Amino acid sequence: MESAASLDFVREAVAEDLRAAGPGARVVTRFPPEPNGYLHIGHAKAICLDFGVARELGGVCHLRLDDTNPVKETQAYVDQIMRDIRWLGFEWGDKLFHASDYFEQLYTWAQQLIRAGLAYVDELDADQMRDYRGTLTEPGRESPWRNRPAEESLDLFARMRAGEFPDGSRTLRAKIDMASGNINMRDPVMYRIRKATHQRTGDTWCIYPMYDWAHGQSDSIEGVTHSLCTLEYEDHRPLYDWYLQSLGIYRPRQIEFARLNLNYTVMSKRKLLALVEGRHVAEWDDPRMPTLAGLRRRGYTPESIRDFCARVGVAKKANVIDVAVLEHAVREDLNRRAQRALAVLRPLKVVIENYPEGQVEHLTAVNNPEDPSAGTRALPFSRELFIEREDFMEEPPKKFFRLSPGNEVRLRYAYILKCERVVKNEAGEVVELRCTVDLESLSGATAQRRVKGTVHWVSAAHARDAELRLYDRLFASESPESHDDWIADLNPASLEVLQGCKVEASLAAAEAGAGFQFERQGYFCADPDSTPEAPVFNRTVTLKDAWARMQARA
Ligand code: ATP
Ligand code: MG
Repeated sequence: MESAASLDFVREAVAEDLRAAGPGARVVTRFPPEPNGYLHIGHAKAICLDFGVARELGGVCHLRLDDTNPVKETQAYVDQIMRDIRWLGFEWGDKLFHASDYFEQLYTWAQQLIRAGLAYVDELDADQMRDYRGTLTEPGRESPWRNRPAEESLDLFARMRAGEFPDGSRTLRAKIDMASGNINMRDPVMYRIRKATHQRTGDTWCIYPMYDWAHGQSDSIEGVTHSLCTLEYEDHRPLYDWYLQSLGIYRPRQIEFARLNLNYTVMSKRKLLALVEGRHVAEWDDPRMPTLAGLRRRGYTPESIRDFCARVGVAKKANVIDVAVLEHAVREDLNRRAQRALAVLRPLKVVIENYPEGQVEHLTAVNNPEDPSAGTRALPFSRELFIEREDFMEEPPKKFFRLSPGNEVRLRYAYILKCERVVKNEAGEVVELRCTVDLESLSGATAQRRVKGTVHWVSAAHARDAELRLYDRLFASESPESHDDWIADLNPASLEVLQGCKVEASLAAAEAGAGFQFERQGYFCADPDSTPEAPVFNRTVTLKDAWARMQARA
């Protein structure tokens, strides 16, 4: 566990409350997603905090689906949310709740507020209501229905529930203060009519509580001690407090922290949904998406995401985190754990003229230099190989230390190779290299001989064809969310698909999600689309660690 000195302000506050509450006190937190989309890396920060605080202090964390809007929510989203939280490494046990479990209780409480003169049925439509609300600088105006008798509101509210009125024709509003400086307090809507089928309550209800009316009471019902949420809820806290005080029920402590923002991406669920619906990405789990499902498919590990969240920390002040920090976290994790492999992205054939036809040698390759327990594997070597097209230049510039006519390179784990001749097609393109190897350079007299470059390769007869998907940032600019036309900021080069890549044969059987370092090319993982006959790999990240370099320079 962390030392007390390194606790963030949330952990400090919760620990302090726990001490003050004395022996036997128990922390209860909750993670409350709306099931209207997939969870993203920002949610991971909240999950790590909510579940982390509870775990560290011997408490519990509830998973509560805040399912108050049937029009946008689905059971499929609920299922995916649960999968993603478990994948990230957190568990709620039997503490699974739904705001919809409390619909009847919330209805009863709404009646209580009406009776107390603290809520009323309004008949303004949405446009009128906006007009009456006022602005940040001007107070709002009171609805003409505001002071109708409680009995009348009670009756109308019951008839709203019974389905007598069309959608949008009436609302139940709290009677607070139309002149409040906090717009959330200007008679907020508590219920609207929505004749929609809810994924859990079916058609039992045609009026649905607003998020703000459901949220605080749900926390209260569950005995949540610390309701941790992002800064935008700071302005809602007075409203939550007003509801809880007016009802005379238990009030949890709400603490707000800054949400996670990442550059080169959008993070609002509304925008992520627009990317999916507009077919700008393949799906919610497209490896370019900042969703947990997308990151997983891209090859991110739960450990790397938890580590990233810990590095980013929890603070009160909003900031934007460089996506390079996230990439750094996954590189560090995969560097420790990923098996190395050789893969040629853009193959160029090499024929070794002094190596016997039909001969195959099994050379020894290290599986992970960071982890000796990972052992070694046998790499087949033969007369015909593939090397990377960009590792050869016919007319190299001065500092090109790879292969060129008359020049030598070390083949990784193998011999020193010399290019003797270039074979071209009719178009004048290089299609094959005729080479020789120094047969003594592996374990013979010249084994220690050093040449400037080392390149990776695969044996042509043994390699398997694979599709490799290379990803770049989804957006071209650092803060796409600041553009009105943020779709126009999509990076057209965010996905490059390479066919006919050549990989070590053993990779064809890789399980979806299994991560590898393709030497010199980056970390890759097998995609769920992958089959032994047609392997597909996603590049998680390249090996160039922009963040580590920045840190070293700083
Ligand atoms: P949207 O991003 O579309 O506004 P949301 O934040 O309303 O979605 P919820 O499902 O309500 O999404 O979020 C569940 C919890 O996750 C909330 O408590 C919210 O504060 C937290 N959360 C959402 N986005 C972030 C973020 N970027 N950083 C940290 N926490 C977040
Ligand atoms: Mg929300």
